Amino acid sequence: MSHPKYAFFEGKIVSIEKAKVDIRTNSLQYGNAVFEGIRSYWNKAKSKSYVFKMEDHYKRFIESANILMIKIKHSIPELCDITLDLLKKENYTEDAYIRPYAYNSGLSIGPKLIKNPQDIFIYSIPLGDYLDTSKPISVCTSSWTRISDNSIPPRAKIAGSYVNAALQKTEALLNGFDEAIVLTSNGQHVSEGSAMNIFMVKNNVLITPPITDDILEGITRNAIIEIAKNELDIDVKDRPIDRTELYTADELFFCGTGAQISPIGSVDKRTIAEGKMGKITKKLQDLYFTIVKNESDKYSNWCTEV
Ligand code: PMP
Repeated sequence: MSHPKYAFFEGKIVSIEKAKVDIRTNSLQYGNAVFEGIRSYWNKAKSKSYVFKMEDHYKRFIESANILMIKIKHSIPELCDITLDLLKKENYTEDAYIRPYAYNSGLSIGPKLIKNPQDIFIYSIPLGDYLDTSKPISVCTSSWTRISDNSIPPRAKIAGSYVNAALQKTEALLNGFDEAIVLTSNGQHVSEGSAMNIFMVKNNVLITPPITDDILEGITRNAIIEIAKNELDIDVKDRPIDRTELYTADELFFCGTGAQISPIGSVDKRTIAEGKMGKITKKLQDLYFTIVKNESDKYSNWCTEV
C-alpha cells in the first residue's frame, strides 16, 4: 500500500481512509485554520529517518493557532510524540513531509473564531524536492503583493492565506517562471517567495528581509542565519530589501522546509550571478543537507530520530 497509510485524527491514529471531515466544517468554508509543514529526512547510511527542528515547528504551530484563537489541547512534547508515532507506523525509507493542521471543526455557518469546536489532525506524505535545488531557477516579481499583518497576518501559517500564495505561484508558472518573488503589502520592499523565504548575498554580506516585512518567520531562515554566523566568514543582516537590489545581487536563494535551499538564477529576466549557483549558496546548501540528515554532530540537536 502506498503512503500515507495513517493520520492522527479526532484524537487517535486511524487509517488515512477514515480521516474525513464533514463538508459543512467551518474551516473548510472559511479557511480559518492553521497548519505546519515539517520535513523528515531519510539517512540511507544509518537506515534512519530524522525530523528537522520539530519542536520549533510545533512552537510556531501553537503561536499561529493563538493568533486565530485556536486552543491546541496538546503540549509541544505531546505533538512531537504523536508525530513520531505516526512516522514509525508509516516506516518511510525516503524523505517525507508532515502536515499538522488545527481547525474549527464545528458545522455552523459564519466566519468567527469563537464558540466553535476545534480539533487537530496530522498526516504525512513522501516528498522529494519542492523546487529545484540542483540548478538555479527563474523567478519573476509577482503582480500580487503579500497580505499584511492587519489583514491576514503572514506571521501565522493560516490555511486561507495560501490563496495569496496560489495566485502568485500560478501567475509565475503561467508566465513560464518557476517561482514568484512577492513584495510587501505596500509594494515597497521584497517580502518573500510564494511559500518560502529569500536571502540575498551582496559584497559578502548575507541579507534577508526583516520579520516586519510581511514574511512568515521561517524556521529554515533562522537555521540559515545561525549556520552562516557559525560556519561562514560572512556578516548576516536582516533589513528591508528593494526590488532592484535583487537585480544587482551577487547571489540569491530561496529557503524553506519545502524549498530547502534553492538557488535563483534570474529575476524578471535579469541574470543573477551569471545564472549559476553562487559560492555562498552552495556552501550553505551543502551544510544544510548534511545537518538535516543528522550527519553533523554539532547540529544533531536539530534532528529527532524517528
Ligand atoms: N514563507 C511562507 C509563506 C511559507 O509558506 C513557508 C513554508 N513554511 C516559508 C516562508 C518558509 O518557512 P519554513 O522555513 O519554516 O518552512
